[in-house]
Amino acid sequence: MVDWTYAPAPESAAIANLQPTYRPFVDGKFVDGGGEPLKTVNPATEEVLAEVGTASSADVDTAVAAARRAFETTWGPMPGAERAKYIYRIARIVAERARELAVLESLDNGKPIRESRDVDVPTASAHLFHHAGWADKLEYAGLGPAPKPLGVVGSVIPWNFPLLMAAWKVAPALACGNTIVLKPAETTPLTALVLAEIAAEAELPPGVLNVLPGAGDVGAAIVRNTGLNKVAFTGSTDVGKEIQRTLAGTGRRLTLELGGKAANIVYDDAPLDQAVEGVVDGIFFNQGHVCCAGSRLLVQESIADEFTELLHRRIETLRVGDPLDKNTDVGAINSRAQLDRIVDLAAAGDEEGAQRWTSSCPLPERGLFFPPTVFSGVEQTMRVAREEIFGPVLSVLTFRTPEEAVAKANNTPYGLSAGIWTDKGSKALWTAQRVRAGVVWTNTFNRFDPTSPFGGYRESGFGREGGRIGLEAYLDA
Ligand code: NAP
Ligand code: MG
Repeated sequence: MVDWTYAPAPESAAIANLQPTYRPFVDGKFVDGGGEPLKTVNPATEEVLAEVGTASSADVDTAVAAARRAFETTWGPMPGAERAKYIYRIARIVAERARELAVLESLDNGKPIRESRDVDVPTASAHLFHHAGWADKLEYAGLGPAPKPLGVVGSVIPWNFPLLMAAWKVAPALACGNTIVLKPAETTPLTALVLAEIAAEAELPPGVLNVLPGAGDVGAAIVRNTGLNKVAFTGSTDVGKEIQRTLAGTGRRLTLELGGKAANIVYDDAPLDQAVEGVVDGIFFNQGHVCCAGSRLLVQESIADEFTELLHRRIETLRVGDPLDKNTDVGAINSRAQLDRIVDLAAAGDEEGAQRWTSSCPLPERGLFFPPTVFSGVEQTMRVAREEIFGPVLSVLTFRTPEEAVAKANNTPYGLSAGIWTDKGSKALWTAQRVRAGVVWTNTFNRFDPTSPFGGYRESGFGREGGRIGLEAYLDA
């Protein structure tokens, strides 16, 4: 095996324009939050990046009241074509400040700069552009002749795609004429607060967007607030269920984007080299912290040994380390708690008798890292086949017939995404029609486009984000 040595190619951390302190954004201003300030950490070094003011429950009330005022006096009554101008402006500034946002995201989250630069930030900006285009065309969306906004939206998002998830919530809410109160994750609040700064720079009317950093209790206070008309949540299935219980019977609308345990199905007629790339991207992109990650490889038995061998050889070439290095493929695990969870679930794989293979790539001496890992000989009953690990760990199962592939793919409480690799279009379609997943990719994986709806079945949640259908969740149509 060739041992390529790369010179370090670090992006400069100074581009992030990191501030020592950040504060909640309420009613168009950065304010001192009433909550206990938190310290956000760079997971690649475990050093504190900044102190961040958090919201108290009184701040939640103030933000919801400001959002209500904005909905009634400025944003709600504003013609769609006028709203669009603000959203276009925000989209443009996100694109202009892309480099700063990408470095800040990699610092706060631990993801490789290659991904924050080429995926997170451009996709966030694309989502804003796409929805800006809808703002004056809602009556042509096929959702009724005069669709109305819902009012005030409360949104709570996770740490794996901090800016992108913020854009996924803010763009459709604003395009449809709603106002929003957004809580970023405790461990990754920074880019959402820069998005607030960008909104202010774009002269978005006060109260239309409010960003309240804090932990789960702030999320719970937002969700409980009776001044909301809708809640949009992305996060774990457990918290999603709790939110659904809180909202039951209140008449407030809800969409849930939750966890997943996607099958990536490789048939024996698949182009194997491409399939290897797709499987690697499916599970090691963003350290596997991806709700739609292809965490269960289902490979046809006749090629299982050959494919696993190819896979190991490819994974050996992945470079794990400094997220700001442009050559890094796999960055840091976002938090100590998440790293512990990955370690525990991988240990369960060992205990239940799966065979662990680990890349021999060197890990940095400090910071939160986990090496790319593959479990083979996985049975459907094992925890590594059933539970979402949310880390760089792939479970390999085998199948003999297409029927068995479909049965195994569907043997999960989740239903967010799936991948199919085959040379035959008819086989791809046959399989796609039978796999219960919101998104099915064929001979590719992890494709995201603002025109394409995304969302789950079963314990992966309900409601769709993106595309024409995604507007439905933000309109009284
Ligand atoms: P999580 O614990 O559910 O957290 C998500 C958000 O909810 C965070 O902002 C969290 O605050 C907040 N929160 C925690 N407890 C809450 C409560 N009782 N009420 C209201 N809000 C509360 O999820 P996570 O572990 O951070 O994120 C990973 C999960 O998100 C995975 O399961 C993944 O599959 C899922 N995810 C799904 C999608 C999708 O589109 N389907 C996309 C990305 C991620 P803290 O930050 O303080 O915990
Ligand atoms: Mg952080």
